[in-house]
Amino acid sequence: MAKTLKDIIRSQITQYGPMDIGQFMALCLGHPEHGYYMKQDPFGSVGDFTTAPEVSQMFGEMIGAWVCDLWIQMGQPEKLTLLECGPGRGTLMSDLMRVTARAPHFKDACAVHLLEISPFLKTKQAELLAAYNPAWHEGLDSVPTDAPVIVIGNEFLDALPFRQLMKIDEQWVERVVGVEVDQFVFGLKKTALRPDSSIRAHDGDMFEIAPARLSFVEGVSDLIKTAGGAALFLDYGHIKSGTGDTFQAVHKHEYVSPLENVGNADLTSHVDFEALGAVDAQVFGPVEQGAFLKKLGIETRAASLTKKADDKQAKHIQSGLHRLTHSDEMGTLFKVIGFTHDDRLQLSGFS
Ligand code: SAH
Repeated sequence: MAKTLKDIIRSQITQYGPMDIGQFMALCLGHPEHGYYMKQDPFGSVGDFTTAPEVSQMFGEMIGAWVCDLWIQMGQPEKLTLLECGPGRGTLMSDLMRVTARAPHFKDACAVHLLEISPFLKTKQAELLAAYNPAWHEGLDSVPTDAPVIVIGNEFLDALPFRQLMKIDEQWVERVVGVEVDQFVFGLKKTALRPDSSIRAHDGDMFEIAPARLSFVEGVSDLIKTAGGAALFLDYGHIKSGTGDTFQAVHKHEYVSPLENVGNADLTSHVDFEALGAVDAQVFGPVEQGAFLKKLGIETRAASLTKKADDKQAKHIQSGLHRLTHSDEMGTLFKVIGFTHDDRLQLSGFS
């Protein structure tokens, strides 16, 4: 009988012992055959979750304005590599490229590159972005460095594996996944890993670390150091490092147990933006998404779109603006951080 993802993970745990949350997550999301991202379309109202670019075209348009501004600050180089990490359905890139039509020559200069693991989403991206002839990558190593690079990523970092430490009897231990009577269960294991000494924690508190995420952002930082350019990441998370359990699994817009129905739920954690701020680069932010989008002019954009809209469209524009910027929605939960090594560049939206 064909092996399920549950069988595969269970057999690994039986052979090698309990696995850390990062290893478990990497298999659930990225297993070549059964991983969540490898087999389906997770987006939209019938999918598992909705992201900012899917809420409103204004999101991609604002990022487009951000990218154009940067290209102009760079002196309008004749060649630019625009790399999006985890482009999903390609909506953000499509909205972004549409607005850049206002900057003459940007499109001629810009080569679109996409970092994506999901074969299904690559097909979607190929359809939507065919006009820009994108190149795909599975890692940062193959991204060209012969022109400045602008890197963007929305809700990408939360999908990278993270690990959980727990304080028990004044000791830090690591939360792991084991098997008990055919079910996955959480357990604890000794570890030499420690949070930063400034973290105050009580017994039973959890602290999350994400070495894979940090090393990815360090890779991005190296890339823009070598090639020139800047990077921008938007995601849900916290501005200051702190304790808490943010491991979440979402299936069809509902929170479910991360240990059940493996490979069919999206697994994520909140991004610790303070930890990312330690990357060697000039860091902008983190700031809240609502404030960032307002500084980039989303309200003016909404007003100008509304002028040309019928009633139904106008409602859609207003509800999109509200969802992206209001503190009850994505406005404060989501944060934005920027990186560069180029002193001449002033990344917009941060001050
Ligand atoms: N940015 C999109 C999609 C966010 S979902 C949006 O805002 O709508 C996360 C995206 O990252 C998906 O495209 C997923 O397939 C991709 N992804 C997740 N882990 C990845 C990895 N390790 N390498 C490359 N892409 C990854």
